[in-house]
Amino acid sequence: MSDIKIRNLAIIAHVDHGKTTLVDQLLQAGGTYRENQAQTERAMDSMDLEREKGITIKAKNTAILFEGYTINIVDTPGHADFGAEVERVMKMVDGVLLVVDAFGGPQAQTRFVLRKALAQGLKPIVVINKIDRPLADPKKVHDQVLELFLDLDATEEQFDAPFSYGSARDGYFMDSPDDEKVDCIPLIRQIIKHIPAPVADPDAPFSMLVSNIEWDNFVGRVAVGKILGGSIKKGDPVWLLRKDGTKVQSKVLKTFTYSGLATTDSEGCGAGGIVGVAAGIENIDIGETLSGTADASPLPFVEIDPPTVQMQ
Ligand code: GDP
Repeated sequence: MSDIKIRNLAIIAHVDHGKTTLVDQLLQAGGTYRENQAQTERAMDSMDLEREKGITIKAKNTAILFEGYTINIVDTPGHADFGAEVERVMKMVDGVLLVVDAFGGPQAQTRFVLRKALAQGLKPIVVINKIDRPLADPKKVHDQVLELFLDLDATEEQFDAPFSYGSARDGYFMDSPDDEKVDCIPLIRQIIKHIPAPVADPDAPFSMLVSNIEWDNFVGRVAVGKILGGSIKKGDPVWLLRKDGTKVQSKVLKTFTYSGLATTDSEGCGAGGIVGVAAGIENIDIGETLSGTADASPLPFVEIDPPTVQMQ
């Protein structure tokens, strides 16, 4: 439904091409940045292991609020060891931001994650980052990315991807390398324009495919996924439809949306959004369905390998 003012996208890139810096800039442009948390660390590098390795290994949701739109951005690990996690992220989103260094061009991890996004039928927006670098060659990198699309059997629509050029470090993005350098708003507008709104039915009963599990110190397991129908709020009855056909009835203890850096309590979460739901069900699993009615059928889910890194 095109009137849903939500955009769900994954951000994919080779390590060091600027994903983290870009998301920080977009958060600032959307006005949801939380200064107290920003002082010590950047938005997406919060895990200890990430800090140690200096790479982003855990998918993390974040949301930009802009002119009435909620843009959910899900980070993805670039390393091939985390392929299963990348695939799960791709199932929650409706498009991807492909970040490529304007000097180095596409690299191994660019290819790895782009292949998965294209195979999932997602539409990319290509972000040529670091054009401030003295040896940057955005036009050459533009052509290299298109060659990669061809090589990976992109559809015509995917090949038609819009490009954005800029510097996450310096905080500007433009639709064309020759435009005036102002801020990151042109990229946010491209996201709203080119990433399709989620397909979800607000009038249907609540349903969500559990795509990830997170942990909250107070309410335990939090099932994360895209709401495919209806809406959900604290206190609602909810059924977990298991893969083996059994059902567990429970009640929603808390819902989470991802806005700025922190997960926040939310009044209610509507169709098409990516949310976390805590329902006091201990052994809820990835691939199972949360439903607002007992008589619904589980949502189809293609089995993929379990995650290599255990979620907290
Ligand atoms: P990630 O691994 O993709 O998350 O990359 P980071 O955002 O951590 O960036 C990697 C390095 O590139 C950091 O040192 C950033 O400061 C730097 N960087 C990010 N964006 C830009 C940019 O637009 N221009 C320049 N010159 N450096 C950048």
